[in-house]
Amino acid sequence: MTIEKELQARSESKCELCRATENLNVYEVPPTSNETADECVLICETCRQQIENPEKIDVHHWRCLNDSMWSQIAAVQVMSWRMLSRLKTEGWAQDLLEMMHLDEETLTWAQATAEGASDEDVIKHLDSNGAVLEAGDSVPSMD
Ligand SMILES: [Zn+2]
Repeated sequence: MTIEKELQARSESKCELCRATENLNVYEVPPTSNETADECVLICETCRQQIENPEKIDVHHWRCLNDSMWSQIAAVQVMSWRMLSRLKTEGWAQDLLEMMHLDEETLTWAQATAEGASDEDVIKHLDSNGAVLEAGDSVPSMD
């Protein structure tokens, strides 16, 4: 069985984030090391575009996370957590994020791309990897 077929069976051929039934594609949840269905989600083009282009984000589209965050599938939980983190300036997204309880392994995966980390966390993250961070360099100010 291909990953796509496996995901179609798992999701009943619906976007695993917003339940759309058209333009569905396999999305590998970064950082994937091996291509298994467990590390992929089946998502629609609308979701994919907004995941990959944060500047195109349509806040209302992501109300769907209210449902998808309760998925039993770790990869779906990870994507829900990351998108809620990206949207957490919205009160409802912050509320949902606080309701989510990921197990330790899933949370580590969710945080692997530093999505939703505060500036301080990002800097710490870079430092611990030995990267040099120039003053005023590309870390957006939250002020
Ligand atoms: Zn979708």
